[in-house]
Amino acid sequence: MSSIKELDTSYVLPTYARADVEFVSGDNARLEDANGKKYIDFTSGIAVCSVGHANKRLSDALCEQLHKITHISNLYYMAPQARAAEKIVKASGYDMKCFFGNSGAEANEGAIKIARKYGEKDGEVKRYKIITLEHSFHGRTITTVKATGQEAMHNYFGPFPDGFVYAQNIEQIPSLIDDHTCAVMIELVQGEGGVQPLDKKAVQDLALYLKSKNVLLIIDEVQTGVYRTGEFLASNLFEIEPDVITLAKGLGGGVPIGVVMTSKKDVFSAGDHGSTFGGNYLSATAACEVVDILEEMYNAGTLKENINYFDAQLQKLYEAHQGIFTSKVGIGMMCGLRVKDAATLASIITKAREEGVMVLKAGRDTLRLLPALTITKEEIDEGFTSLNRALSSL
Ligand SMILES: *Cc1c(COP(=O)(O)O)cnc(C)c1O
Repeated sequence: MSSIKELDTSYVLPTYARADVEFVSGDNARLEDANGKKYIDFTSGIAVCSVGHANKRLSDALCEQLHKITHISNLYYMAPQARAAEKIVKASGYDMKCFFGNSGAEANEGAIKIARKYGEKDGEVKRYKIITLEHSFHGRTITTVKATGQEAMHNYFGPFPDGFVYAQNIEQIPSLIDDHTCAVMIELVQGEGGVQPLDKKAVQDLALYLKSKNVLLIIDEVQTGVYRTGEFLASNLFEIEPDVITLAKGLGGGVPIGVVMTSKKDVFSAGDHGSTFGGNYLSATAACEVVDILEEMYNAGTLKENINYFDAQLQKLYEAHQGIFTSKVGIGMMCGLRVKDAATLASIITKAREEGVMVLKAGRDTLRLLPALTITKEEIDEGFTSLNRALSSL
């Protein structure tokens, strides 16, 4: 580890405050570090490894594809990309088409381009403004960092693209719409902002209002998408019909991929958008296999069982440590506990790792849990036993 740490410090730019651990292998929700220490992973690589580490079905499908062809560019038809698009659209239940990129930020960039072009074509005045929420997170590119409603992230890097407007809450959005507004972009459960679900009725009301104003509703499902909340999309759970949806984290099971899908199928024409890597044989094969695995679990009821079991253990932990936690938050396998203060949260995360369970932070004071959707009861039990020990030792 020390030599890896030295290499990293010497050659990798210091954009991350890394924890002092190097993982070398994994098996579903289990991890092992370079010293042979074992962990239960309640993070799944920040909601990415949705089917667990070293998933055999996923790695077999990837190996089989890699032995044939990995990449050929979007100048040609690619069977896995076309199949992945069909699976994603059918699982969503919406009448949409997909564009493939490589990350969440890139998917959101695509969504913003669709909204801006729609706003230009669809009216006499050019509509370009996009309303987002405070405490949101939409990515790290210049445009998506500006779309992110957190002032602290706008300190450097300017000038930024114009046209992002921040609403304090969902109820305030209608009053911010003017003749130049083309879209509203929101997360249904704010992830980085603190695992905060929006109110379902308020979202449904907003969706209807935006339709009446011909303002597009973009749902950033980069974290909530691909069964994280128990349904394929949080939009399904909230029973709304968005115009644009973005996906990324859990879709490739660890292989980088991002998708923007929209019901506005004819806004983009050839040449309007593109990606060298997006949806190549590798990432599209990953998406096909991940969606298949999770869809089978969903249909068999095992996803629901896992979610219920995880939630019951989280509830017990919450009740057992009332002095530390102030509330329980989240939906499905995107959940957490609000901690009384930020310093306590920091020590929980370190103590948990020492006790052999990986957990995350969100916002200032939220302990965030994003386990693999395939996590077993044994893994859940072991993880909560370790977490309980960590909390008792504070
Ligand atoms: C993680 C995240 C992003 C950014 O995704 P990247 O792949 O890191 O670019 C955007 N939106 C939401 C809601 C996210 O959780």
